[in-house]
Order: sequence, then C-alpha cells, then structure tokens
Amino acid sequence: MMSVTLLNGRALAQEIKCDLSKKVEKLKEEKGVVPKLVVLLVGDDCASRIYARNKEKMALQIGFESVIEEFPNTVTQEELLARIHYYNHAKDCHAILVQLPLPEHLDKQKILQAIDYHKDVDGFHPMNVGNLLLNNPTVFPCTPQGILTLLDYYNIALTGKTAVVVGRSTIVGKPMAQMLLQRDATVIMAHSRTENLKAITQQADILIVAVGKKHFITPDHVKQGAVVVDVGTNEDENGKLVGDVMPDVAQIASAMTPVPGGVGPMTIAMLLNQTYQLALEHISCHQTPKNN
Ligand code: NDP
Repeated sequence: MMSVTLLNGRALAQEIKCDLSKKVEKLKEEKGVVPKLVVLLVGDDCASRIYARNKEKMALQIGFESVIEEFPNTVTQEELLARIHYYNHAKDCHAILVQLPLPEHLDKQKILQAIDYHKDVDGFHPMNVGNLLLNNPTVFPCTPQGILTLLDYYNIALTGKTAVVVGRSTIVGKPMAQMLLQRDATVIMAHSRTENLKAITQQADILIVAVGKKHFITPDHVKQGAVVVDVGTNEDENGKLVGDVMPDVAQIASAMTPVPGGVGPMTIAMLLNQTYQLALEHISCHQTPKNN
C-alpha cells in the first residue's frame, strides 16, 4: 500500500496569513491604508452566521478592518441594494461579500451584480466570471483558487493530467473546471445527471469533489495514485464535520485533502489575500499623480 500525502490546507493557510499580516503592516506604514472587508449577512441561518464571523475574525487577526452588517430575514431587496451601493462608493471599503445563501424573496443574481466588480472579493459578479473565462481575471472564486494554491504548494503537476470535477455549482465546480483547463489539465465535469459516474471518476489523475453528500466518493470511484480534493462540508450523526470523500480513499490516493483542515482554511486564506489585492488595486487607481 502506498502512503498518502495529506494536503495540509490549515498549515498553508496559516503561512499565507502570516505573510499577509506583514504585508498589511507595511501597507499601513507606507501608504496609510488598511484593507477593509465588509460582509453583508442576511437572516439568522446558523451556519452562515458562523462562516461570516470566521471571515471577520480572520480578517481582524491579520490587521484588516472588517465589519459584518447584519440584516433581518425580512430585509427588502431595495434596502439591501442601497447598502451595497453605499459600500460601492465608500472609499475605505475595498472588498464586499454577500454571505450566501440568501432568503428566497431576494434575487441573488441582482444582488451579486449590484456589487462593484472591483470590490467583488468572491469573484461572483458576471464581469469577473467573464474575465475568468477569458483568462484575464483580477479576482478568482476563493475555493477553486485555494485548491490550486494548495496543489501548487505540494508540486502536484496539472499539465496534461486528467482532472475530473464532480459538482457544477457556480461557486466551486464550474470555476474549478475552468481554472484547471487554463492550467492545461484535460477536464471532465460530472454532475447529478452523469451516467456511470464511477467509470468517469476512475479516469481521474486529479479528482475534485464538491457535491455536498457525506462520504459520497468511495474507494472504488478512485484510480490508484490519484490526487483527491474533498471540498464537501457535511455533518455526520454526531454533528462532526465530514467530507464528500470516504476516509478509506486514503488507501488508494497518492495525496488527499483532509476534512476539516484541507480546502476550508484555504478558502478563507484566499478571501483575505484577495481583499489585500483589491486594496492594492484601489490604491493604484486612486493615487494622485506627482507634479514634476
Ligand atoms: P451545490 O449544492 O451548489 O452543488 C452540488 C453539485 O453536486 C451540483 O452540481 C450537483 O449536480 C452535484 N451532485 C449532486 N448529486 C450528485 C450525484 N449523485 N452525482 C454527481 N453529482 C452530484 O454545492 P456547492 O458546490 O456549493 O458545495 C458543495 C459542497 O462543498 C458542500 O458540502 C459545501 O458545503 C461545500 N463547500 C465547501 C467550501 C469550503 O471552503 N470548504 C466552499 C464551498 C462549498 P446538479 O448540478 O446536476 O444538481
């Protein structure tokens, strides 16, 4: 049996955050600018509240400014749009994130489109989605970007490899497939209508799973020596966080992300990194030209 390499997202995310906190310190000293992340949170969904708080906590830890603006479940579309417009124009705000999912009476697309795409830290604005497709992005969706950063850190080659992405959501599966394609992988996307899924996943040198079903991928889905990335976050009967991939897959894979401690921390690290990048971009756009 070959031994599996655990792709330690928690450790790499920590390194990225340490590096960022030094850069933030320098930015404060040299330009007097503190990157600021605004999170808009609607309703009282427990998981969303935890995710939003985590993002705020991490942002504050590395020296950013961060606020969560909370709205009741009954907030109207107009009220929420008005706050987005406010932050679009707020000079001290560099990154805006609307915590998903939103209550059903709100039009998610309209709300995401209202965010100034220069502040769209999640990369969900149509302009940023289009730029990703054109291979000209300024922001990347955080989860796929975190996955690629992790694979690169462990020197996992992508060029020419067969990558199978299971799940086609707009926030994970689709951008993941696109980004792998841009890295010269041969990409197959699978979803709930895919026939004979096992025959497809067994072809994967790189298998990325974002389905949202506990232990959905079993050892017989996986080719010997494959690299397996588990995006799933599910709760088991005891309330413990478990992935979409059965832990036994570690006996077949050459490398695998743990849950927790794999993709999740990398997603937050990318969110912070992109907030910093957006702050830099803001500075370069608003710098007053020197009179010579
Ligand atoms: P969605 O529910 O939006 O998408 C799930 C995808 O899985 C869909 O494309 C669906 O196909 C596909 N699917 C469902 N059943 C099957 C099946 N039997 N066979 C093949 N494909 C199937 O989920 P997300 O992409 O938003 O999230 C996926 C998981 O990742 C969740 O557990 C979520 O919590 C987690 N997540 C974790 C993050 C992290 O940072 N760790 C970040 C984001 C998400 P179809 O389109 O046909 O319905």
